[in-house]
Amino acid sequence: MIPVKIQCSCGQRYAFDIEPLCGRMTTSVACPVCGADGTLAANEVIAFALASQLSHHDTGRQTVMIFAVIGCLLAGLAGIIKACNMIHGFDVLLCLVGAIGAFGMALCVYFWRR
Ligand SMILES: [Zn+2]
Repeated sequence: MIPVKIQCSCGQRYAFDIEPLCGRMTTSVACPVCGADGTLAANEVIAFALASQLSHHDTGRQTVMIFAVIGCLLAGLAGIIKACNMIHGFDVLLCLVGAIGAFGMALCVYFWRR
């Protein structure tokens, strides 16, 4: 069952629970005050609820995030190696800043996921 809350254009709020069929309302609903049809709004709420349910079960997104973290760490590592191979100057600084940025991004992505 999906709890559906609708705010009618007249300002009235009404709520009900529905077991959707193919992600849609099985019956039509109307505002208890002004009688305006609320089926379309209810369908939108159902579609949103189903979509958020799906994203909770989605493990593909987590895999992508792990690859993003690994990619950032590799980019950071590559930057540090490059900086070490340089003798001196502005390039070293740029590479180090890039490496720190990549590591920072990896950590941000990692902790943001938790
Ligand atoms: Zn109404």
